[in-house]
Amino acid sequence: MTSIRQLKGVGEKAEQLFQKIGVNSIEDLLHTYPRTYDIYKKPVPIKEIRAGNIQAVEGMLIKAPEMRTPSHPENNTTKKSAKVVQAVMRDSTGTLAIMWFNMPFLQKTMRAGCRFVFRGKVGFKAGKLTMEQPKIYGLAEYDELVNEMQPIYSLTMGLTNHAVIKAIKQALELEQTQMRREYLPDSIRKKYQLAEYNFALKTIHFPKDMKELMIARRRLVFEEFFLFILALRKLRQANDITKNQYPMQPVSATEKLIEGLPFSLTNAQKKVWKEIKRDLAEEKVMNRLVQGDVGSGKTMIAILTLLEAAENGYQAALMAPTEVLARQHYENILELFQTHHILRKPLLLTGSMTAKEKKEAYEVIANHEVDIIIGTHALIQEKVKFHRLGLVITDEQHRFGVRQREILSEKGEEKEAVHVLVMSATPIPRTLAIILYGDLDISVIDELPASRLPIKNCVVDTNYRPKAYRFIENEIQKGRQIYIICPMVEESEQMEAENVLDYTQMLKTHFSSAVQIEYLHGRMKPKEKNEIMERFSRNKIQILVSTTVIEVGVNVPNATVMMVENAERFGLAQLHQLRGRVGRGKEQSYCIFVSGSDKKETLERLEILNKSNDGFFIASEDLRLRGPGDLLGIRQSGIMEFKIGDVFMDANILQEASEAANEILKQDAELLKEEHQELGRYIEEYLTNTLGKINL
Ligand code: ADP
Ligand code: MG
Repeated sequence: MTSIRQLKGVGEKAEQLFQKIGVNSIEDLLHTYPRTYDIYKKPVPIKEIRAGNIQAVEGMLIKAPEMRTPSHPENNTTKKSAKVVQAVMRDSTGTLAIMWFNMPFLQKTMRAGCRFVFRGKVGFKAGKLTMEQPKIYGLAEYDELVNEMQPIYSLTMGLTNHAVIKAIKQALELEQTQMRREYLPDSIRKKYQLAEYNFALKTIHFPKDMKELMIARRRLVFEEFFLFILALRKLRQANDITKNQYPMQPVSATEKLIEGLPFSLTNAQKKVWKEIKRDLAEEKVMNRLVQGDVGSGKTMIAILTLLEAAENGYQAALMAPTEVLARQHYENILELFQTHHILRKPLLLTGSMTAKEKKEAYEVIANHEVDIIIGTHALIQEKVKFHRLGLVITDEQHRFGVRQREILSEKGEEKEAVHVLVMSATPIPRTLAIILYGDLDISVIDELPASRLPIKNCVVDTNYRPKAYRFIENEIQKGRQIYIICPMVEESEQMEAENVLDYTQMLKTHFSSAVQIEYLHGRMKPKEKNEIMERFSRNKIQILVSTTVIEVGVNVPNATVMMVENAERFGLAQLHQLRGRVGRGKEQSYCIFVSGSDKKETLERLEILNKSNDGFFIASEDLRLRGPGDLLGIRQSGIMEFKIGDVFMDANILQEASEAANEILKQDAELLKEEHQELGRYIEEYLTNTLGKINL
């Protein structure tokens, strides 16, 4: 690993900023791929300009730049220091206002009557379409740029795109002098038509054109999947032959619990429960994935499995990705066990507990005073020593790194492999699941409880809000509860979208004070989050305004309305997952998707959610609609994120990579042959540095 400090212009401060975006070395830097590319398009006629986009227009200045005099200087205290220069331009289709901040010198350099190309973001200022802070080009100068692609990276406050570009350009040069060797065997590169490594790396950052970019991308996507699959297979080769050291026999407690439930298990749940019981009693240790759409009742399966392990004299652990969810599982189990007079004791272990509480928890775990341990990542801390741990379950597996699931499963005595059960709601087709979870047996819960009424959906624009609030008011009258989702925590200059803090304030003025309205977001302290969730689940709060922190797992069956603001900003799969928070009880539930954009494609995309409540269908429609043109856009799926490959979009490359991995391992399982040595070395590096970071 080479430090990025050796790059020109990267000092201590820049180094820290780079660390914030996950770059700790030159290697990291080179593999920080652009989020998207800025393509300089031909100027558009003013008539066709739309708010919100970056666009270029070509035309004549009809009003030279002049300093704006604020109309109400006394109200304008905050903007006092900002010097605003305004101008107006025209082409044959219309006129457009332009403004710049803090560039008073433009008054001297630009005259009315001259022609320029202006490129910038267009928004509404005082009801008028206005281009803000555009870059200025001569006509010939812009012409040269047309169709150039500029990489855009994910940044952090203080780090500019320009700084990243500069660093990467230097790094590429360094890399070239060292010329990392191609490690994909020739035969594979030929067969799957993959570009050479150094070319691909350079091109992904600075492509000449779209065609070249696609060639580079294909190579990098293939490589990402290929390494992942190979690494996983290597990790798991051992698993396949691991003996079951923790055999478990069926017990009466689980069957009694099932009988005592207020509902009967669905057939799908029964089938999966049977598969799990069989696994636990078999020769080989269990490694099973339970896949089921949101609300299909995976938690019940997890609880039954935990109980079976406990009744067999083992400890069992359940790990959830958020503290809110872990606590909810804990309370759910506690209550269930109390109601059914089950004497097994669950324990909650989370990061926000005090040092003293944790210490006590470690003790009772080590002494086996508790059988069932529920927690967050806190479970995989070094300090946690289990006693006769026989089973680990991860809920919402796609939120964890592969490595985290590994570590938990290695918590058994003498690191002896324990039974592993993995819960996931990721809507991927079975063929892909088999590749991505290659080592696991897969059970599918393909049925929702019959008592459920399908969620009623609607896609609306912001004008619908008053109506929505009246509807919400009504539901609250009936005793129901509401989630409102906003994409952001607080106001931001970069993005125009609803935020949790302001929205909550606004709602408080709208509803009577009898309606309790609170907010929840990821930046709150875990204790505060827990308290809010706790109160919401006891109906002490009626409206919860939240970011997507509530996306996973949360279960408050009395909540019947979910309203999503700026729904266009979320991926469909994510919206579907969010929607899964309602429709969990007997009452009719509703989902209101408010679109902040009236673009045809946006509405068409959201309509898919309107038409279907089926996660598989939604994911595949999303894929179909996005099409290859969107490859460069911001990731939509929000799940199963690789660095560059997209499980849905690049499904065929995933298949190819899997095929290639099979071919290689068949010939040379240990990767010892001369032509595979470079690859073998790479895989080792990958296993230690990268694999764990992939959420799957
Ligand atoms: P998920 O699969 O998304 O994790 P949960 O396990 O949280 O879903 O279940 C959602 C809700 O459905 C819970 O309130 C749970 O008690 C209930 N539930 C689970 N199984 C059934 C069933 N067979 N019939 C009716 N309700 C069920
Ligand atoms: Mg769940």
